[in-house]
Amino acid sequence: MYVKLNVWYTAALVIVLAGCQQAREYQWAVHDMSRPRPVVVTPGEEDGQAPSDAVVLFDGADLDEWQSTKGGPARWKAGSEYFEVVPKTGNIQTKQAFGDCQLHIEWATPAEVKGRGQGRGNSGVFLMGIYEVQILDSYNNDTYPDGQAGAIYGQKPPMVNACRGPGKWQSYDIIFRRPIFEGDKLVRPATITVLHNGVLIQDNWVIEGATRHKRRAEYKPHPDKLPLILQDHGNPVRYRNVWIRLLD
Ligand code: MG
Repeated sequence: MYVKLNVWYTAALVIVLAGCQQAREYQWAVHDMSRPRPVVVTPGEEDGQAPSDAVVLFDGADLDEWQSTKGGPARWKAGSEYFEVVPKTGNIQTKQAFGDCQLHIEWATPAEVKGRGQGRGNSGVFLMGIYEVQILDSYNNDTYPDGQAGAIYGQKPPMVNACRGPGKWQSYDIIFRRPIFEGDKLVRPATITVLHNGVLIQDNWVIEGATRHKRRAEYKPHPDKLPLILQDHGNPVRYRNVWIRLLD
């Protein structure tokens, strides 16, 4: 009896699976030569350099692509090769707005170590001005894990601590998918992948909402595109080679 039942089950399963296989339609044949070719993008000469379709937000000259979040020009120091937070001048934001994106940004916390915990080399990359990937000197500097370098602030520590020492140049490569709202309702939360110095530290993490200090994250509806913000947290953190690709 048991064997008989098993045969029937197997037969039924085969029929169902065959049906599924038939129902599946592929737009393209395998190795279909009529398939559209991907757009050609010229990559940088070296890894980390801006590809041809990127919006360059800082190439070593000036802060023309940026402004103060308080209005008016960005008041951070822009020298040759890098720009630097001038404490107490406030956050800066891009003039252009972005949603889904790939962001490359290089940063260095001060070579001279001052302060501890959240007070050492603190800045931040706010995607859409709302969702912060923390920048901090997390090299031999303990703090709450959801606030160390590479954390989605207040939500998710990085998978590993891949920090270089104070004063050393470091990189974030970020792939961000914006949240989708229908009216007041969140229909898809934002997701984020981050590589820190080439090491995966956030793997398609589902962001819980606007990053906050000492409070649970929460989503509030917002436009599809918003400026990128860099944080003045009172420490002279440096940035260079900043570029972004729109993924929508
Ligand atoms: Mg910060």
